[in-house]
Amino acid sequence: MYGTQLEIVCGCLVGGAGPAGMGLLFNALKSGALPALTRNGLIIVDASPFPGTGRLADYHLTANSVGDVFLDCLRDPALRDVFEPLQHSEAYWRIRDQAFIAPQLSDVGELLAEASKLVLDHLVKNYAVKVWSSTTITEVVSNSDEYQVWVEHNGHSQVIRCRSLVLNLGGHQDPKHLLHALADQGLALSPKTRVQSADTLLRMDADELRAHFSPVLAAGGRLTVVGGSHSAFSMLENLAKALQCIGLEELTLVHRSQIRLFYESVEQALANGYVFDPVDDVCPVSGRVNRSGGLRYSALEVGRNILQYGRISPDGVRVHLLQSGPGRGQQYERAGQALAESSVVVQCTGYQPRLPALKYADGRPITLREVKGGLDSDPAGCPLDAIGQRMHGLYLFGLGSGLGIDPRLGSEPSFDGRIYGVWQFHNDASRAAIESVSARLDVQVAEKVVADRRRQQRAEEETPFFWPAMASIKF
Ligand SMILES: Cc1cc2nc3c(=O)[nH]c(=O)nc-3n(C[C@H](O)[C@H](O)[C@H](O)COP(=O)(O)OP(=O)(O)OC[C@H]3O[C@@H](n4cnc5c(N)ncnc54)[C@H](O)[C@@H]3O)c2cc1C
Repeated sequence: MYGTQLEIVCGCLVGGAGPAGMGLLFNALKSGALPALTRNGLIIVDASPFPGTGRLADYHLTANSVGDVFLDCLRDPALRDVFEPLQHSEAYWRIRDQAFIAPQLSDVGELLAEASKLVLDHLVKNYAVKVWSSTTITEVVSNSDEYQVWVEHNGHSQVIRCRSLVLNLGGHQDPKHLLHALADQGLALSPKTRVQSADTLLRMDADELRAHFSPVLAAGGRLTVVGGSHSAFSMLENLAKALQCIGLEELTLVHRSQIRLFYESVEQALANGYVFDPVDDVCPVSGRVNRSGGLRYSALEVGRNILQYGRISPDGVRVHLLQSGPGRGQQYERAGQALAESSVVVQCTGYQPRLPALKYADGRPITLREVKGGLDSDPAGCPLDAIGQRMHGLYLFGLGSGLGIDPRLGSEPSFDGRIYGVWQFHNDASRAAIESVSARLDVQVAEKVVADRRRQQRAEEETPFFWPAMASIKF
């Protein structure tokens, strides 16, 4: 157990057991890959005292998919016995009741937390998996073909050596990232403007938002949200709902490219009068419009209202949509002016992966190469370092890292971001990682067999051979 040895060796370490790390474990259980994944030891390390939950439940917003999408992650014959206790769970029935509507993320998080606990208990009992809760990964050293993962628990440091490291510690929003992105477009904020992370604000309830923003509104300050995704529209909705009663009259959204709405089909989009590109915005596999990048459910409703009435809801807070990037409807000057005049700018421009210090064995720091929306990684989530070397054995696909579009599954050609979401973590996003980890462990087992054989041969060559009968004779 942790705390007793300075160095521990295992085949695979899952660092971070939020929806992404847990998605890989659920998927391994479903696909029968657990015996392979655990045969040289599997350790799960998470900073939380209750691993398996992550951040999802903390957000005060509606999911971007219906409840059934989350239930689908638990629906598999291999999981039936493990999840039997969920039949008596309130959280499970609450999501079942919302199978065809988008539930609150707090409900989704509660269900995933209960399901994750059942899976973790099952892994500990049946596969001798070790779960190190309240343990923080502080540093990762890449040393030839393995990773040395430094962890801290109760003030003690230890190192775990592993051949495969699945590292999904969530994401964060670095204000520098926003300032660089704006500078790339020739835009800047006033030195007096405060940049606020949407991640923090989306975790506040209405009372907390009011307490936070009332001084800004009392001083007549302007609020601008930057971004164009689901969370940008949810942010507008949360701010409008919480602050209208204390005098908020208008909000501004500065977005780089056109606001995209999701539709199940071209016919549905046309019937709604939605203008889209029939090639670039339509997924060739599913026929859906803006399948990856379009607003859905409550964010879609907010988006439609803003496009139609210029307001959050027909009689709600006014919203100015200002497109800063090229294209139809560009309003670059007005966007620049709004940013320069804003007291608070809310950063909704995606996430960067939360990473511990990463180093090579000689002490050089490792920088992972980024692309739009996440990390430059292969389909298994293996990233590249700054000089383009593949970090074999390291897998990241959670918030802030994401994965590129799989052409077999399809997406609209105009989408150039990274994909992440609970269903992906439980299915496509972790499948390639599981295969790659298993393949590396196969090689490790084969290498061990060869090394053991060599060691045995050497021992036989060095040790004088005794006939068994002579072994007891005293010379
Ligand atoms: C606002 C918002 C809304 C979203 N809505 C949806 C949605 O509706 N549907 C959907 O499918 N997806 C949604 N997502 C995307 C995604 O599913 C969630 O962000 C999800 O929480 C990501 O899971 P994760 O495991 O990557 O990160 P997290 O949930 O942040 O989990 C990270 C885990 O790593 C642990 N950890 C962190 N640091 C350390 C450390 N140093 N050492 C050890 N452990 C550590 C934490 O304790 C935690 O358990 C949303 C994302 C955001 C930001």
